[in-house]
Amino acid sequence: MLSTNSIDTILTDSTEIAASTILSGGIVVFPTETVYGIGASSYNFESCKKIYEIKNRPSDNPLIVHFPSIESIEKACHMNDRARKLFQELSPGAITIILKKKDERIFSNGLETLAVRIPSHPSILELLNKSGPISAPSANPSGKPSFTREEDVIREFSGKVDCILQAAAPTLGLESTVINLSSGDIVLLRPGSIDATVIEDVLGDKISRKISNSQISPGIKYRHYSPNAKMILVDSFEGFDFQELIEKEINSNKSKNKDELPISQNHFKVAKIGFRISKPTQFDRVVHQNTEYAYFLYEFLIDCDNQGIDLIFCERPMPGDLNETINNRLNKASSGV
Ligand code: AMP
Ligand code: MG
Repeated sequence: MLSTNSIDTILTDSTEIAASTILSGGIVVFPTETVYGIGASSYNFESCKKIYEIKNRPSDNPLIVHFPSIESIEKACHMNDRARKLFQELSPGAITIILKKKDERIFSNGLETLAVRIPSHPSILELLNKSGPISAPSANPSGKPSFTREEDVIREFSGKVDCILQAAAPTLGLESTVINLSSGDIVLLRPGSIDATVIEDVLGDKISRKISNSQISPGIKYRHYSPNAKMILVDSFEGFDFQELIEKEINSNKSKNKDELPISQNHFKVAKIGFRISKPTQFDRVVHQNTEYAYFLYEFLIDCDNQGIDLIFCERPMPGDLNETINNRLNKASSGV
């Protein structure tokens, strides 16, 4: 039996060992091109449920099922023309499509649909070809930013999972785009590393952002990607008065913690991420394009937690590629919902 309390975790670069761990009911943490995932065999319901315990994931939030090919998805789901076209054009890659489930043996957390994806990370394709479908959410404690660095997953998951696959780290930094094609409409459930406009171009059709109650992705309602510190989103750092808001925050902390010693200006730690940072401190992250912003955002937020940052300023992304996705993550992370 697996236990969440300190089990032996194998660190390996062998997809053979990772696959045999999956096939024998174990839990494996692995990198994909988007973020790290924590996975189990989709045919093993007990192991899939174990992932919820390890991540402290709300029990009604289903998992994405990872497949090695379109043919393998067709055996598990009812494929339709739009989905086939998207998989042919954009997979392997960072797109996840919700389809009606066909193969009852696959874990869907009680739903009649499956979220399916073909990752492009070569080691994971190799793993999936050996293990069969793997159900995997992002590898992070539920509600926190997803991990994009091996050191973070080793620190968090050693002693909690059976195996950590050591392969090339994610190159994108934000999760896949989730589209619902199970009901006749085309609905964007989660913006992601592939822009919705790219999907619209492939389909020659508009994607709806209006999610009806029956289509709601169970994961949407939960707290996501949030660091410990308060986050302030700023349209542009150009000429922005940081000091005024820093002082306001220090004063409001003072009035909240009347019995504690007030934090002095010198001990109050501020971190910023954005394009226009004039004199970056050791805590700041300067980015030059949206792709770089996407790549560094979670890593930056995790560093903020590790360094005990008190206040975070994030500049809004540039217009264009990944704007909708980065804004989605900033809005969720800062609002705590
Ligand atoms: P993650 O936890 O990062 O892997 O995100 C997976 C996302 O896909 C969550 O928002 C889930 O709610 C969503 N998802 C997975 N399966 C389904 C499904 N069958 N229907 C709708 N959304 C799903
Ligand atoms: Mg996640």
